Amino acid sequence: MLRTVFRGVVLARALNCGAAIVVGWLVFATAHARIIIEISENYVAIEHEASRMVSREKPYTASLPRIANNDSYSVLIGRVSAPLYVEVRDEAAVPGKQAPVRFAGSSLGGTQEVLPGLPRNAILTVSPEQEGASRLRLRVLRQGTRSHESLVATIRFLRESTDRIEAVYRVPTITLRVRPCGVVNAFSSPDITLCTELMDTMFREGWHDAIRVVLYHELAHSLLRLWELPGYNNEDLADEFAVLHASDSPRAIEQISRWFESRDPLQKAATQVQMAGPHAPSALRAKRARAGLTNRAQLRVKWDAFLAPYRRTR
Ligand SMILES: [Zn+2]
Repeated sequence: MLRTVFRGVVLARALNCGAAIVVGWLVFATAHARIIIEISENYVAIEHEASRMVSREKPYTASLPRIANNDSYSVLIGRVSAPLYVEVRDEAAVPGKQAPVRFAGSSLGGTQEVLPGLPRNAILTVSPEQEGASRLRLRVLRQGTRSHESLVATIRFLRESTDRIEAVYRVPTITLRVRPCGVVNAFSSPDITLCTELMDTMFREGWHDAIRVVLYHELAHSLLRLWELPGYNNEDLADEFAVLHASDSPRAIEQISRWFESRDPLQKAATQVQMAGPHAPSALRAKRARAGLTNRAQLRVKWDAFLAPYRRTR
């Protein structure tokens, strides 16, 4: 039976109460759940991201689709060498027609909220005030809050995956938090964070099942660490565990493979500005994930032996 409980394991057991949102968090656990899900009502998605040269002749443009719920856009601009104009206008805006939102950028950069009431097919345009090319670093966020019903639906979706792991293993207590993080990622420390930015990007591609694979990957890090097993921080092992548990769904494997492949150009760009992470190249991760569909039996034998002491007796 599903029960919604107050934040925290101790409170949850003591209070045994009904649904509640406490300070913007909805917490959810089944009667025997060891994986506690906390979900923030705050939601952030990264709509656009760019780092490139712009000029008056070649401004940056991006579409801002009209938002159905109460979300709003904001435009984050990094330090720029010359002032920029940031403008939001109708797709059909003609010279002389007043723009609905218009402001001059600062050389220090900063955040500009886009006012609500956007025209249909609004276009964001960023161009330097002066002649010549200027480096633009930009991020367009869509942010808002999610309804109780929406949070419960997300929790039920994640619960399907955590229930599956709990059915196979005697898992220690782990908190899984869904919240905005400012990056398209997920973390294990060993509590798990799934960033709304990651979920939104995957949902937008229709890759819902890829989120399950990411969750299994993070659970592998957390479980191995809490069980004090070697290799808890090994990315290849975590991928293998994730692929094993997702491998009865060719759709999930295909989605995560395509996700890895779509990250390749971004990963290359990221490693130019920061230390390379311990993950294998995305193309290799995709290849290994697809191989998991045919290697499934071998993976199962390996992991059944490795995690035998932690499996539920059947
Ligand atoms: Zn990892």
